[in-house]
Amino acid sequence: MSDQAAVAEAEKESVMAEAAGGDGAPGEGPKFTLELNQDQKDIREWVHGFAEGVVRPAASEWDEREETPWPVIQEAAKIGLYSFEALGQFFSDETGLTLPIANEELFWGDAGIGMAIMGTSLAVAAIFGQGTPEQMGEWIPQCFGSADEPKVAAFCASEPDAGSDVSAIRTTAKYDEASDEWVINGQKAWATNGGIADVHVVIASVDRELGSRGHAAFVIPPGTKGCEQGAKVKKHGLRASHTADVHLDDCRVPGACLLGGKEKLDERLARVREGKKAKSQAAMQTFEASRPTVGSQAIGIARAAYEYALEYAKERSQFGRPIIENQAIAFTLADMKLEIDAARLLVWRAAWMGRTGQKFENAEGSMSKLKAGEVAVWATERAIQILGGNGYTREFPVERMHRDAKIYTIFEGTSEIQRLVISRAISGVHVK
Ligand SMILES: Cc1cc2nc3c(=O)[nH]c(=O)nc-3n(C[C@H](O)[C@H](O)[C@H](O)COP(=O)(O)OP(=O)(O)OC[C@H]3O[C@@H](n4cnc5c(N)ncnc54)[C@H](O)[C@@H]3O)c2cc1C
Repeated sequence: MSDQAAVAEAEKESVMAEAAGGDGAPGEGPKFTLELNQDQKDIREWVHGFAEGVVRPAASEWDEREETPWPVIQEAAKIGLYSFEALGQFFSDETGLTLPIANEELFWGDAGIGMAIMGTSLAVAAIFGQGTPEQMGEWIPQCFGSADEPKVAAFCASEPDAGSDVSAIRTTAKYDEASDEWVINGQKAWATNGGIADVHVVIASVDRELGSRGHAAFVIPPGTKGCEQGAKVKKHGLRASHTADVHLDDCRVPGACLLGGKEKLDERLARVREGKKAKSQAAMQTFEASRPTVGSQAIGIARAAYEYALEYAKERSQFGRPIIENQAIAFTLADMKLEIDAARLLVWRAAWMGRTGQKFENAEGSMSKLKAGEVAVWATERAIQILGGNGYTREFPVERMHRDAKIYTIFEGTSEIQRLVISRAISGVHVK
């Protein structure tokens, strides 16, 4: 090769390298790759080990007991998996993938116990997303308690008449200037860890006329008078995770418990009242950030059911051959693997976009949660079919996985609401 040709070749290579994401020059984001780094692999292995060794063996028992599995939470706290340090480490990964990877592994172990461990993170996400640095430092560690005495936290947005329609929230927060306290009144429904939590994060309206733009998030510190658990919900699935109403009766919290602080709230409300766009809406902001994470939990359930069904189909014989030799079974398993992998890619894309500050132009967060939730329901139902009669019994885990999966088309925005968000984003039309 002549010198000139060598220079041209080198230039071409450098242009291609740049087009492919460059070599990480300052100012560029991390280059696109699906290859996990060593930290991600280590965390995946660590969480998987816990899911396999501690969570799975306990899954059936806590599903039947329908109680919070405190001993398992304690085990998770002891190894540092249930801790604000671990969650901080998952959050801080600059690619955004560590949090979904850890969730997938944990929920592969069991979704009910997984939610008992991860339910706290919704409240943490609200404090992290909307709190001041001082508020984060004060409240996030309290959400977890200590390794010896772990605590849980709850995020309370939904109400009996405000589920999909968050703007209908009736819980009010009124500022008492004389005492510098907020007085909160209302009833929250469906709160994961509601009433058993040390820290509750409550979404309340400070100005009902403004709908969801008049909402704010408040921390209710441990032991605050007027914050009580209401009825505990008996559920179809996720039964190891506690869900309950929360009653707020003249519940007084210090002014400093308003996430983000009063000055920021007053500025935001003034903008809204002037007809300008509010920069954020308290509940919606939390949901948007957490959707891919919730999607990854659904993928963990779907993968567990798929793996179980695959092994079963290799071992179970009918008509003198393993049932997997029938295309009807093998193709179903092929489709399960395909759909789970496709859903995971959507989750990873949304997690990466969220972490690297990309705009969700086409509601990619909603897409990821919608796809993952529907794949989990479908794949777990197919797993029951592959196991036949056994699949329908509590002697085999796919029945529980199917019950657990169903919630993923309902909470954190139902499938219909995700489709609404996506269709509005892609069309610019206010689809109803
Ligand atoms: C196990 C569990 C845990 C939960 N944990 C929490 C929690 O920790 N914190 C919290 O705040 N909430 C929590 N929730 C509440 C959950 O987020 C709500 O159940 C969910 O948002 C749906 O609200 P809803 O149940 O009132 O249903 P509804 O809003 O009444 O919806 C009923 C049906 O109508 C459809 N629908 C409604 N509006 C439209 C529309 N505009 N277009 C098309 N279809 C529509 C829905 O998609 C759904 O199919 C939890 C719920 C459960 C079951």
